[in-house]
Amino acid sequence: MENTSATNPTIDTLIQLVATYDESVSGEQIRHAYEFAKAAHADQKRATGEPYIIHPLATAFYLAEMHLPAPIIIAGLLHDVPEDTEKTLDDVKAEFGEDVGNMVAGITKLGKIKYRGIERYLENLRKMFLSMAADVRVVFIKFADRLHNLETLDAIPPKKQYRIALESLEIFAPIANRLGMGEMKGRLEDAAFRYIYPKEYEWVNNISKSGRQGKQGYLERVIRLTKETLVDAGIPNVAVQGRAKHLYSLYKKLLKNDRNIARIYDLIAIRIIVNDVADCYAALGIIHSRWRPLKGRIKDYIAQPKPNNYRSLHTTVFSEDGEIVEFQIRTHEMHAVNEYGIAAHWSYDEQGKIAIKALSKNQRPPEWVHELASVQHELSAVDRKKYLRSLEEMKIDIFKDRIFVFTPKGDVIDLPEDSTVVDFAYAIHTDIGNQCTAAKVNEDNAPLSRVLKNGDMVDIMIDKSRKGPNPDWLKFVKTRYAKTKIKQYAKSKISGWITGILPGSK
Ligand code: MN
Repeated sequence: MENTSATNPTIDTLIQLVATYDESVSGEQIRHAYEFAKAAHADQKRATGEPYIIHPLATAFYLAEMHLPAPIIIAGLLHDVPEDTEKTLDDVKAEFGEDVGNMVAGITKLGKIKYRGIERYLENLRKMFLSMAADVRVVFIKFADRLHNLETLDAIPPKKQYRIALESLEIFAPIANRLGMGEMKGRLEDAAFRYIYPKEYEWVNNISKSGRQGKQGYLERVIRLTKETLVDAGIPNVAVQGRAKHLYSLYKKLLKNDRNIARIYDLIAIRIIVNDVADCYAALGIIHSRWRPLKGRIKDYIAQPKPNNYRSLHTTVFSEDGEIVEFQIRTHEMHAVNEYGIAAHWSYDEQGKIAIKALSKNQRPPEWVHELASVQHELSAVDRKKYLRSLEEMKIDIFKDRIFVFTPKGDVIDLPEDSTVVDFAYAIHTDIGNQCTAAKVNEDNAPLSRVLKNGDMVDIMIDKSRKGPNPDWLKFVKTRYAKTKIKQYAKSKISGWITGILPGSK
């Protein structure tokens, strides 16, 4: 297999890139971290035979591409130091401070996975959740680290290649997706794809290449016409660019469409990026008045964002010479969030300050991360079988698609697909779950077992005199949280009863 060598940045290109968006830390401080790491790794080589330092440098570069603040870049440069060299974590902290030191410590912890097979998989998941809950920046560094390792896998034994690639496809990419990091997810998947399904990779790669071949001139023309049309119509600050679909997502789409490339309209999409939401809809209207849209292909992910907060308008039109082209229309801010997800909130704001931006309710670092991590703390002491089972459930909670359901006040509750009224009640508050007796879904009476759909509005009636949940609910609830609470109540009732009749037992 030929080596798809990763971009080989230098420390100078790294410093230049960081300087374009973050001036809180001087270039010399970044260079100092680089020299420190370079000296620490001096006698080490990568499996490729290259000096080790190219790996932390590439890791830091990927972080800079996401416009992450300089301290994360510095932690990226140092991420393998305590694990692999004579220098300790204390050395790192003494030189670069607590904050950078803590991020490096988080990465070091995340790296140590001692299990094999399914247990390794689950342990990996658990560690990812724990470190996300503690400091989500650590997971950004881990993604960047993994991406570079994936892109330089050729030099290691095939068995190990396969394991790392599979882990990336099954754990890292779905988590990146859940965090809304579309670009990272796509790159991780594409880098893993060729090791997991080499033949399919070749097939899709060829399809993609030949699909794009000879179209370059055509696309450039459509991009130019699009931009002219929008500017003439008075839309300010328009950017128009072409974007080839990631290979793995193209592969999955081909499988859904009888492997027929003619049915894939977004092999290359044209992105229109504008100032605000009003301009998005205006641009959509302008595109439709110039080129006829295909029926049933207009999607409004601005009014109804995807569960991972992806927002954009999509439309497919018969463009110049009748060729079918997909357009994706979004604001500059939506574009950053679509590409970098939660990481976009660490980038700089208009005042040039680096800060975590005020997040809207749907964009907060997800609560499920904290919830799952805390549950895992409690569970790690109990018996192994139960532990593995709960991790399985947790995996289902995370990787199944999520739905957004509304309270009567308009608050949004984020639940896994197929959740019921009772899951919703518990997601609001344990007491609401324990005491719910009836519900209205979209103003109509509905049973507690009703499966909810995206956009439902749910009003829960409670009965304050009610002692606790009905164990029969276990037959239909979907979320681990509701199950746990219902079981807990049943158990406390039994043990209370036993304690009552058998003195001394507990
Ligand atoms: Mn590394």
